[in-house]
Amino acid sequence: MTELEKTDAKLSQSASAKMIYLSEYKKPDYQLDSVELRFELHETRTRVYSRLAFRRAPGAKTQAPLKLDGSHLELQVLKLNGETLAPDRYALDDDQLVIENPGQSFDLEVETQINPQANTALEGLYLSSGMFCTQCEAQGFRRITYFPDRPDVMSRYTVTVVADKQKYPILLSNGNKLEAGELDNGRHWVKWQDPSLKPSYLFALVAGDLACQEDSFTTMSGREVKLQLFTEAENIHKCDHALMSLKQAMKWDEDTYGREYELDIYMIVAVNDFNMGAMENKGLNVFNASCVLASPETATDQDYYRIQSIIAHEYFHNWSGNRVTCRDWFQLSLKEGFTVFRDQDFSADLNSPAVQRIDDVNVLRAHQFAEDSGPMAHPIRPDHYIEISNFYTVTVYNKGAEVVRMLCHILGREGFRKGTDLYFSRHDGQAVTTDDFVKAMEDANDVELAQFRNWYSQAGTPELVVDENYDADARTYSLTIRQYCPPTPGQVDKKPFHIPLAIGLLGSNGKELLSTQENTNIAKSEHMLALTKPEQHWSFSGVEEKPMLSLGRGFSAPVKMSLSHSDEALAFMFAHDTDEFNRWDAGQQLAIKIMLKRIDDYSAGEALPLEPMFIEAYRSTLNNRTLDKALVAQALSLPSESYLADQCEIVDVDAIHGVRQFMRQQLAEALADDWLRVYEENNVKIAYHFNAQDMAQRSLKNLCLSYLMELDSLDQSKAEHRQRCLRQFQQGDNMTDVLAALSIFNQHAMPERQQVLDAFYNKWQHDRQVVEKWFAIQAASSLAGALKRVRALMQHPAFSIKNPNLARSLIGRFCAANSVNFHLSDGSGYRFLAEQVLALDELNPQIAARLLQSLSRWRRFDPARQILMREQLERVAGHKGLSKDVYEIASRSLEG
Ligand SMILES: [Zn+2]
Repeated sequence: MTELEKTDAKLSQSASAKMIYLSEYKKPDYQLDSVELRFELHETRTRVYSRLAFRRAPGAKTQAPLKLDGSHLELQVLKLNGETLAPDRYALDDDQLVIENPGQSFDLEVETQINPQANTALEGLYLSSGMFCTQCEAQGFRRITYFPDRPDVMSRYTVTVVADKQKYPILLSNGNKLEAGELDNGRHWVKWQDPSLKPSYLFALVAGDLACQEDSFTTMSGREVKLQLFTEAENIHKCDHALMSLKQAMKWDEDTYGREYELDIYMIVAVNDFNMGAMENKGLNVFNASCVLASPETATDQDYYRIQSIIAHEYFHNWSGNRVTCRDWFQLSLKEGFTVFRDQDFSADLNSPAVQRIDDVNVLRAHQFAEDSGPMAHPIRPDHYIEISNFYTVTVYNKGAEVVRMLCHILGREGFRKGTDLYFSRHDGQAVTTDDFVKAMEDANDVELAQFRNWYSQAGTPELVVDENYDADARTYSLTIRQYCPPTPGQVDKKPFHIPLAIGLLGSNGKELLSTQENTNIAKSEHMLALTKPEQHWSFSGVEEKPMLSLGRGFSAPVKMSLSHSDEALAFMFAHDTDEFNRWDAGQQLAIKIMLKRIDDYSAGEALPLEPMFIEAYRSTLNNRTLDKALVAQALSLPSESYLADQCEIVDVDAIHGVRQFMRQQLAEALADDWLRVYEENNVKIAYHFNAQDMAQRSLKNLCLSYLMELDSLDQSKAEHRQRCLRQFQQGDNMTDVLAALSIFNQHAMPERQQVLDAFYNKWQHDRQVVEKWFAIQAASSLAGALKRVRALMQHPAFSIKNPNLARSLIGRFCAANSVNFHLSDGSGYRFLAEQVLALDELNPQIAARLLQSLSRWRRFDPARQILMREQLERVAGHKGLSKDVYEIASRSLEG
């Protein structure tokens, strides 16, 4: 490892880069009784009139000043109780307006002017493809008007939107439409009133020329709710799936959590320029168009799946986030961890539970474990930040969901439901903390979860070391498990975690040795071990033979487990484990063991033959007709390069890619006939439907095709499979099959590659979501020369760095999903990233900061790459006028 000289001096001095601490939280001094807003919309000069009725909070000092947040605003008028405030009564700077001694109860009128067209940060009010829209989470509302922009100030909003009628016939905001009318000069207005209490981050406004598709849902108490999806007219045929998903989500939340929707209308708007996936604004969700619009010709199975899950996620927030919201932004996981858990559960219920679990764990292992072991490691409830936008992370979201899942394991389904019932009823209309959530779980179940709270305050991935012993005479099987959590920045010593660990014991015939009962609800099973100490022992009697330990079933806790299973034992589990997740995982662990050995030998240039046992394990899984096809496809996919990288002491990018690629070719050759037969069996001509069965069939078919194409790649004189792939590309009637074929060609240096890429663009150039895919695919091509192609594509007329989806598709994908080219030993990939981060920081700091994270784990690489990566981090960090967002990532990466 290379040690750093002092980098602090090189960091730019950013005046506003102030660290904010959870420990410094103070209740607001003033509460807001009501909010009246009037927007006079104009592309470059929008006027915002606000009238705020404040009241001093009980317990606040009589002299307490009123502090309002505001940035990028031009203050026009400021009146207290109807009188213009003299300049000596208030202080104004770049991000605050402070009024001294405003009184016990008072009316404040504020008039500001803003420029939505110049707002490329896409926070607050901005223009996207000719429509006005807003994004206020976390701190966007302060770019609209001076306001107590914090989630613990909740109020009732009345909003009037005024705009040119021809350009903006549709005017939307939260709640119910009260009145509408016409004005002179071709303008019109609509007045909205939201009966619910909400914080400013849930405010939304949309104005544009939009088409609408309607539907309705009857709630459990028999009320009819109008559902509306707004989009540009050319996309109106792509709304069915989202509306169907919304109705499924509404029903599921009633059935599973007893939660009913309370407003008369639920609106969703599709927006082209959007930083996030979607936003749960009260009654008016705003969605990134790519996360809501779908048709079989333009969207893949993955898109359909993702839309179903995101629609549900935003809907579920109506209870877990909106009605019960966060006290402060350190509590983000309160709403996000819980809601991700809810949407994962929903997707599992509607599709294949095992495949859903595998997908969830893949995300966690590839991205969250990496975050936990890098300089950005933070607990799911962080205790300090400079810019909260940087903490919308896989840790807060996905590990947060795992923590809620563990509570569900510990309490059981029924106990967990008792806990959520109490949580919702106790805190409806309040802004609360993660501690309040755990407290509700404790009170409803009469249990104590003090140690469990360590999951909220400690960062890092715990590691388990397992020793087992079988005493044949006594027929006793015993286990010793030690837990340990490596240090993370700012946290050297950790207290032990409370870890629910589901286990099973398998006999030589594959039968469960411990249990006679069904393992469907592991929470109720007697085999849920409760790890609470650094080292613990368990002993099981009456075990007839030396068992095979199936550990952490269903991935019951977000930990790393090391077990000394032999290759043969893993192959056995891969064939026999009754827990589908662990069955898949045994295959992954076996592949990883084999691959890590090869990665070590890679520099020696050895090409080891593939173990026959491994080939046979693959063959029997591929030919197993009783398994879910989606599970087979997952089982036969080698571990990702990023998960492999996480297993290596020092990441050797070329070796990881080379070994993985070589093993794919070996598997392709060894099972050539099997891949072809299974491909043909599943290549059936049926109309596209989004359902688990058809999706499974397509995923297995396309996996087979990708292995088959390795054969053509090995022997360029044959073109049999190339023809097959080309046929699928040309004749496929759904985007899943077409894109699968295109993606495969994209990874092979064949003349067909450019032909299909061109044909695809020519056919779909009018559809921006499909064009995003076209950029993303090319950015991920591991063929040589990718950076040159990415740079050329940035000049393509369809590309704009200002659009977050395009920036992510091309620049983001290249840096995060194309490791051989991004990590090229000449450092060209790193220089490219730094260049783009600096360019983007001027436009959209949130997106720039997210991109920069590809450099944050520089210490994991070889010394030569470390120097190159660090150089570029320092170049970014030393840049004058850096945003808080980018400054925080750069400085943490260098210090951490
Ligand atoms: Zn969310």
